Formats: sequence, structure tokens, C-alpha cells
Amino acid sequence: MIIKPKVRGFICTNAHPAGCTASVKEQIAYVQGQGDLGDGPKNVLVIGSSTGYGLASRITSAFGYGAKTLGVCFEKAPTERKTGTAGWYNTAAFHKEANAKGLYADTVNGDAFSDEIKAETIEKIKQNIGKVDLVIYSLASPRRTDPETGVTYKSTLKPVGQAYTTKTYDTDKDKVHDVSLEPANDEEILNTIKVMGGEDWERWMDFLRDADVLAEGCKTTAYTYIGKELTWPIYGQATIGKAKEDLDRAAAAIIGKNSDLFVEANVSSLKALVTQASSAIPVMPLYISLIYKVMKEEGTHEGCIEQIHGLFTQCLFGDNPTLDEANRYRMDAKETNDATQAKIKVLWDQVTQENFHELSDYAGYHHEFLKLFGFDIESVDYEQDMDPQVSW
Ligand code: NAD
Repeated sequence: MIIKPKVRGFICTNAHPAGCTASVKEQIAYVQGQGDLGDGPKNVLVIGSSTGYGLASRITSAFGYGAKTLGVCFEKAPTERKTGTAGWYNTAAFHKEANAKGLYADTVNGDAFSDEIKAETIEKIKQNIGKVDLVIYSLASPRRTDPETGVTYKSTLKPVGQAYTTKTYDTDKDKVHDVSLEPANDEEILNTIKVMGGEDWERWMDFLRDADVLAEGCKTTAYTYIGKELTWPIYGQATIGKAKEDLDRAAAAIIGKNSDLFVEANVSSLKALVTQASSAIPVMPLYISLIYKVMKEEGTHEGCIEQIHGLFTQCLFGDNPTLDEANRYRMDAKETNDATQAKIKVLWDQVTQENFHELSDYAGYHHEFLKLFGFDIESVDYEQDMDPQVSW
């Protein structure tokens, strides 16, 4: 099959196996090129392991520290006529590279919010790893079924308190326009907290503890985006921001429940970048296209793997981590510092339909977007016939 990108709105509905492999190998090469990372994790569970920040965490654990990794993700397998999802191919490529290095790598594919998948994961830990010393929580999902009640909650991306009108860029129609977002009601806020808040992170840690598979001194982190004034109305202080605040509550609860094991739980704030999750958020494609422009000019641009390598070496396993008042690791300073934000604000105020491509780095954004699905990668021959059926 000849595989070309099928972009529908903010998503690409297919993926290229060779392109995903190339992109995984590029991240592995980055980590391997950083030299000895020193002491780090040995047995790592990554929940949300197949794309974005979770995949980068898995790659850093395995290829930076030689850790055994068990991943959990929710990806679609390919069929004869349809490609698998990018996360499927990424995972296949990761397994192949890890196996070639003699590193244990296994992945549970299913709904991480369910108790069944938690039980299956724990069984694998018991059989093949023993105890985990690092748990990464990197899920991004629009819905969650609460295993205790069977109720399915949907998250919303809306402001809180008052309506908000702002600029956005419609990637489908190549149009910069105003968008008015109505404020969320209380139910929508609570539902978003149910999906993207800390309840499931806490539940995972409870299950792992009850099964006696948490090593003493185990570290765990969940990822957040805090951002600044430009994104606060739609992210930091919006429904998703409310859910992310709940991660701070969960971190404290996890520490409290596991004090006998000296478990460390921190939320980690990372920078905005193109992933499947962020492309779905209104305003983000415009904001990210502008920060790419500014940060590339400043020489401070980073992707998932650079951010996560920094998080591991400076914060999670570093001697001098940057922690904020809420005990969160901060890896977002290069984006959120006042000088950089001021430059972005100037562009933000100026940007119109006419000058968008000139003022922003949309070309960079679009390239990164296609790359998420294994497209637009120079080393890959997209005219070549590919078998989409790749297995793990
Ligand atoms: P992503 O879409 O690339 O990855 C999401 C992962 O979650 C995938 O591995 C997917 O398979 C998995 N997943 C989703 N639903 C699942 C389910 N029900 N069961 C099992 N696995 C499931 O997203 P990302 O951008 O890497 O986001 C990861 C985390 O990082 C999120 O918490 C996000 O808020 C945070 N974050 C993202 C950004 C950004 O700009 N992208 C910035 C800061 C923080």
C-alpha cells in the first residue's frame, strides 16, 4: 500500500510505519548522544507510552538509563486495508530497538482507566520486573469511564467564569479568525476533572501499592501544562486547567498514602508543543506556531525528547531540580519567561490572516504535525509500497 497523509481537521487518520520508525529512532539517537546520564530508574511503568511526552519518557528511561520499560497505551492495530495508529507503529519500533539492545520492553494495549488493564499491567510487573521505581503518568484523553460507577465522563475545553473571544488558526481552512468560547457550566468543569484530573493517577498508585509492586523510594510524576496569560483563558484557568490543578491534590495524596515507602510524587510542567493532544485544543495551533518562531530565533526551541531528557536529568534524577511553590517540577521556563512571552505577545497582537505565514512558524508546526504520524520525514520514501501490518 502507498501511504499518504489523510488529514481531517486537527487529526491525521492514518500513519506511516517507516516514518514512525524513523521518528522513534531519531529520539533514541538524541538520548544516546547525550552521554552517560548517571544514576536513574531501572524498572519503569509509563502510562500513555506510545506518543508525545509518554513515548519520550519511555525512550529516555530505556536508552538513557538502560531501564526495563512496561508501557500502557490505547492504540489501533493495522488491518490489511487500514494502517494502524501512529502510537501502534511507534510502539512496534520501540520494542524492536529495545529488544536489539537486550532491554526488556512490553506494552499493554487497552483502556488505562479500567481496572482490568491495571490488573493486567500489575501481573506483567510481577512476572517480569518485580517492582517499579518510576511511574510516569502521561495520558491525554477526551473521555474516561469511572470503573467504580461505570459512568463515562467527557472533558470539555472551555473557559471558566466568563465567555472568551480570542484569535485562533483553523488548520483545515488556513484561516486566522476570532473564536468566541462560552464558559463551562459546573457539570462540564467537574466532568473534565473526572477525565483529566488526578483521580486515575491516584488509583494507579493505589493498585500498584496494594499489589506490593512499588519499590521503596519509587518516583512518580504526571504531566501538566501551566502556560502564561496568552493561554490561561483557554488552558491554565479553563476547564482543563481546573483538571490539572487536581493533579496537585493527587500528588499530595500519593505521598501521604505511601510515606512508609518514601514515594516521591510530583507534577511536572512541560512546554507547549505539537502532539496529537495539543492539536485538538482551540488556539494552541496558533500559539504554538508563534512560540516556535520566537523560540527557534532565540535558540531555545525544544521537542518532546529534549524536554523529557531535561526533566529526567535535571529534576527527577538531578541534584538541583527546579521546583515551584506547589512542589511541581518546572521545565517550561524557556517558554513562559517574561521576555519570551513579551515577544510572543507582540506577534499575537499583530497576527492576521494576511501576515500569519510570515509572522509565525506554521511551516515548522505543520511539519511537526505530519511527523507525529510518520509523514514529511526526509529519509522516508513515501512512493514505496508498504505493508501496513506491523506487529509488536
Ligand atoms: P499524546 O496524545 O501524544 O499521548 C497520549 C497518550 O495517552 C498516548 O500514548 C495514548 O495511547 C494514551 N492514551 C490515551 N487514552 C488512553 C486510555 N484510555 N488508555 C490508555 N492509554 C491512553 O499526548 P501528550 O501531548 O504527550 O500528552 C501527555 C500528557 O502531557 C498530558 O497529560 C498532557 O496534558 C501533558 N502535556 C502536554 C503538553 C503539550 O503541549 N502537548 C504540554 C504540557 C503537558
